[in-house]
Amino acid sequence: MRFAVLGSGSQGNGMLVAQGNTRVLVDCGFSLRETERRLAMLGVHARQLNAVLLTHEHADHVHGVALLAQRYNVPVYLSHGTASGLRKPVQAARHVRCGDRFDIGELQVSVVGVAHDAREPTQYVFGNGNRRFGLLTDLGSYCPRVLKHYEGLDALMIEANHCRDLLASGPYPWFLKQRVGGDRGHLNNHQAANLVAELGWQGLQHLVLAHLSSKNNQPRLARDRFVDTLGCDPAWLQVADQASGLDWREIA
Ligand SMILES: [Zn+2]
Ligand SMILES: [Zn+2]
Repeated sequence: MRFAVLGSGSQGNGMLVAQGNTRVLVDCGFSLRETERRLAMLGVHARQLNAVLLTHEHADHVHGVALLAQRYNVPVYLSHGTASGLRKPVQAARHVRCGDRFDIGELQVSVVGVAHDAREPTQYVFGNGNRRFGLLTDLGSYCPRVLKHYEGLDALMIEANHCRDLLASGPYPWFLKQRVGGDRGHLNNHQAANLVAELGWQGLQHLVLAHLSSKNNQPRLARDRFVDTLGCDPAWLQVADQASGLDWREIA
């Protein structure tokens, strides 16, 4: 199994998970053209996609999805709540709900409900029968039910959205600070590092920090927090950024 990131952050999100000839795109927050360009950088053409999975209806996750699905006739998996929040409905929608497990080609998919200020936000864990990869972004808090899905993974991409202090002293208006830092907002560096510490990270081949805020975080701060909390090698930690995402990573 392998994964790659088209880009990650409040300006647009998208990532690929692949096993054999099965390729799924999770979220499509860039314009169609930009999505095609970023896919091409990773050696993928949109017509090779088996499916698009959406996490929630925020624009940074769905901006280009309706056009992509239409042009390439790709099925879109999403929750009822996410579907109801889309400005442009997608064709070939397949509805999923929290707790679902299903196969797309050679990939096994588990749907995890999370706490975020969207209608019915979901995250996903992928497996190939041997290895498992978890994606966990856009959540303000977590409970044991969520943690359970992410136990024993071989690779994890997790949100480290903001630094508490930078958010507090930064440019956002008060209501937005409350929202981002709240239980249905985004994980800060502390929360994300603690979550990974609770799960245990020794079995992970890859740990990728994602959805970093450009205004309220810095890659160095996020890395330092994880290194302090986990005691891991700084060079081992990876960051998926907004401009260039992350090249393919193999989960052996
Ligand atoms: Zn987001
Ligand atoms: Zn969101």
